[in-house]
Amino acid sequence: MTDISRIRNIAIAGGHHAGKTTLVEAILERCGAIARRGNVADGTTTTDHEPEAIDHERSTGANFAHAHDGETSLTLVDCPGYVDFFDETKLVLAAVDAVAIVVEPEPHKVAQLAQLVAEIEARRLPHCFIVNKLDRPEADFGATLDALQRAHGRHVVAEHVPFGTGDAFVGYVDLGERRAVRFGDAPHISVAIPGDIEASVDARRTQLLEALGDFDDHLFEELVEGIEPSPAEIERDLCAECAHDQIVPVLVASALGDRGIAAIVDAFVRWFPAPDVNVRVDASGGIVAPDPKAPVVAQICKTIVNPQSGKLSIVRVLRGTLSPDTLLENASQRGRRFRATGLFRLQGKRAEPVTAAGPGEIVALGRLDGAVTGDTLATPGALVVMATVVCAEPVYAVAIRPRERLDEAKLTAMLDRLLEEDPALRVARAPLTNELQLMGAGEVHVATATERLARKYRLVLDTHDPAVPYRETITRTLDHHARYKHQTGGHGQFADVTLRIEPRERGYGIGFSEAIVGGVVPRQFFPAVEKGVRDALASGPLVGAPVVDVHVTLIDGTYHAVDSSEASFRTVAALAIREALPNAGAVVLEPITRVETIAPHAYTSAIVALLSSKRAHIGGFEANAAGDREHVRALVPQAHLAHFCTELRTATQGLGRFTTAHDRFEIAPEMARAT
Ligand code: GDP
Repeated sequence: MTDISRIRNIAIAGGHHAGKTTLVEAILERCGAIARRGNVADGTTTTDHEPEAIDHERSTGANFAHAHDGETSLTLVDCPGYVDFFDETKLVLAAVDAVAIVVEPEPHKVAQLAQLVAEIEARRLPHCFIVNKLDRPEADFGATLDALQRAHGRHVVAEHVPFGTGDAFVGYVDLGERRAVRFGDAPHISVAIPGDIEASVDARRTQLLEALGDFDDHLFEELVEGIEPSPAEIERDLCAECAHDQIVPVLVASALGDRGIAAIVDAFVRWFPAPDVNVRVDASGGIVAPDPKAPVVAQICKTIVNPQSGKLSIVRVLRGTLSPDTLLENASQRGRRFRATGLFRLQGKRAEPVTAAGPGEIVALGRLDGAVTGDTLATPGALVVMATVVCAEPVYAVAIRPRERLDEAKLTAMLDRLLEEDPALRVARAPLTNELQLMGAGEVHVATATERLARKYRLVLDTHDPAVPYRETITRTLDHHARYKHQTGGHGQFADVTLRIEPRERGYGIGFSEAIVGGVVPRQFFPAVEKGVRDALASGPLVGAPVVDVHVTLIDGTYHAVDSSEASFRTVAALAIREALPNAGAVVLEPITRVETIAPHAYTSAIVALLSSKRAHIGGFEANAAGDREHVRALVPQAHLAHFCTELRTATQGLGRFTTAHDRFEIAPEMARAT
């Protein structure tokens, strides 16, 4: 068990392809946790080990790694950068104590971090930015730093600035200490700051000191009076203000070139807080003090299901001490009890057994039946439940069916396991079509899930865009007469009806009544007539969709005392409707969806253009409370929305969000119309 003050739990987050996995690999190598670095292209890194991640060179889930820097135990969580996996990142953020946000040295990519930074700020999680890939010739550190400050405020301050870029990125200047360090030299050896960057170093250093002075009156006064603060004072302020998320330091790296890594590890250890620094509270606001002797409280931040070796629940221990066979209660599920089988620390896909884990440690527990991500595990009777992260509503769906009919039987069980691992996925039947759908945060999320299902459980799904629930209706009133007469051996079948079929308002559904005078059709046959009507309305003449918003009246008919039966009246009623519909101005109705987007103002015209290309009716615009974003409301035919989440992301550089709800059916102008 590690002493809590020596623990650092850090999420490595940031944009897709920023170099997070490479950075984790570089840190693991630097700390001696792995003998040799793997690389992303070969799929040999520690934290991108899932085949889906290797195939597409993109992390598809959070992955855990572990290293020691001297006495300090570092748990690093490589978070997926792709927007589709943001819920996975959110779950990790609830388990760590700090975040390093990796960013490419390109100012225009800074905007893509908005959602991540907003989540981190909402949690008041200490964080830093690491500007990576500074070995690239086009790298622009200054412009990237400016963009970060514009987007996230003046408390984002450089602590390190690069000493040259591209091939000439040979070191960094530590602004707190105002000294240049060359990579490869021992960290205490300084070299002279080159004359051509001296002015910019001083300007950036002033920004750093002024930001620190906002939280330290003494340092502020020194600055006003032109007194140079002591290095010890600067270091103390950096530690305190970073640990409480008051300032956000910016560091520099080339993860691929193994440059800047030692300084980053050093910064993690010095400035990021141990798990006992910031107070944790449970769902009802009670403090959960990290006491190793208290009853256990731990929360599951990720679940991994392996068909061969079973299930692993990765937990953050908040209180108490876990052992490999601790008796636990699932406090989130009304006290279900189980004994853990095994306690492990994860190094990528490798689970290394440990004998105990205390407060602040992130470890994996084996075979916790029924426990899901977000659940709180506790010593029986501890009565503590932590707040859970709420996953976003799905925005993308595909209809699914097993490719092999034989797999129908195992479908439900396999989907349950898939959902156990990924709480951001949903499976449900679409209400208007009854199609089974797999839903998630985007096309990549859902495609990754189906790939995982095929690999892990040998269940291959056929997927397609969800069917659009069209309907049909009529636009004219019509009286139609039909007769059914059939002689089969013994007695025959006879029925004769005249039906009036009338269009009704949207949402009416189907109505039936009778207006028979003088008993020309006996009362006992009315239900059979209605059944026949409904049979025929189940499939319209244009696209075979259900016919709705019509009223049918039985207005006349004849019967035969011997040959008429319920069956013959049901048949004749269906016949009458089928013959009548094409002549009653049948039209197709399409579902119209209420769409509401929200994105920064700059994207409003792109959103309007996108919606307009979809026959949308734009309903209104409204700025959000903070005034930095705009809502656009529109009514859009559902047929055009299957890939809206991807299209909106493209139009808004990933910054647009949206919600949808079924609104109504309307006549589809483009679709076939009968006479
Ligand atoms: P992630 O998606 O953020 O985990 O990014 P990866 O670590 O998978 O890296 C994405 C791509 O950027 C890979 O091709 C890496 O080799 C490359 N890369 C990562 N770090 C650096 C770096 O410091 N310099 C350069 N030039 N390329 C890098």
